[in-house]
Amino acid sequence: MLDLARFPRLPLLTLPTPIEPLDGLGRALGDALNGVRLYAKRDDVAGIGLGGNKLRKLEFLLGAARAEGADTVVTVGALQSNHARLTAAAAARAGLACELFLTRSVPRQDPDYTGSGNRLLDDLFGATVHELPGDADSLAHAEARAADLRGAGRGVYVFPSGGSSPTGCLGYAACAAEIFSQSADMDVAFAQIVTANGSAGTHAGLAAGLAAMGRDPRLAKSYAVLAEEPRARAEVLEKANATLALIGAEARLTEADVNLDGAHRGPGYGIPTAGMLEAVRLMARTEGKLLDPVYSGKAFSGLLHDVRAGRYPAGSAVLFVMTGGTPGLFAYKEALAE
Ligand SMILES: *Cc1c(COP(=O)(O)O)cnc(C)c1O
Repeated sequence: MLDLARFPRLPLLTLPTPIEPLDGLGRALGDALNGVRLYAKRDDVAGIGLGGNKLRKLEFLLGAARAEGADTVVTVGALQSNHARLTAAAAARAGLACELFLTRSVPRQDPDYTGSGNRLLDDLFGATVHELPGDADSLAHAEARAADLRGAGRGVYVFPSGGSSPTGCLGYAACAAEIFSQSADMDVAFAQIVTANGSAGTHAGLAAGLAAMGRDPRLAKSYAVLAEEPRARAEVLEKANATLALIGAEARLTEADVNLDGAHRGPGYGIPTAGMLEAVRLMARTEGKLLDPVYSGKAFSGLLHDVRAGRYPAGSAVLFVMTGGTPGLFAYKEALAE
């Protein structure tokens, strides 16, 4: 299988996360699902800080940071970044200081966006937050701050946007192996593993894990919500291959191995779409489960659209990775109000 035991890891969530059939949604949609059976991988509910996909990356990122003797972690994101919130929570758990460089990249100034949701939790987890204008190069600010702190004798580890370095992507390579083992136990063969794509690390990690196990990397599919399709595709390819190199696997992906759809992003990152609102409400009202307005809501709207259009084979089982982002709902109160 896939041996990642040589990479240091800090446990942050209880694994494996459950896989559950979306029966309530199936009952509500009936024939509109065209015979497709939908399942959810519950990466939204496990672990600290309200959970989410960034915890799998942070297990390896914080493992590496501790192995290098870091006392401080620094990362970047949008003002409502789930990655920033979970880095703050995980750093608190690990006893490390945390600094966040957050950009106002989504055009919102209202208090729900600037003070609630993830942004409220960043403060609660004790992070030092630096807010930047939308067009600022947050990583350059983070690196400059890290250099200052190192000059003062601190050990600093900088995580890139979304934690999607090759080390972070190991979290989802491991998840690909976890899914195969659950799939065997359940006796359900998934025809597709579907996720949202922001900084590309979740898709890249899954695809790298699949390729390293000798499986088809196109089993992993993402709906892009941040970059436009060509750039999202290039990022998955680059990050998957860097992850395979880090693992020490010989396999490499080509562009044809990147299964990605950019048609459900809407006008831009963090900007609501009608499809997202429908998906969030439908999941809540048929399953009692929560999608988020920025990532998984748009990805699930893409999946629903394609299932309704008959683009997934009848009789197939499709696994949707629920990636979390729950606090973001509170930052989108107005969009969600009816
Ligand atoms: C970050 C995030 C994603 C996307 O993961 P990437 O690895 O950045 O592509 C999906 N869903 C949620 C809730 C996220 O916070």
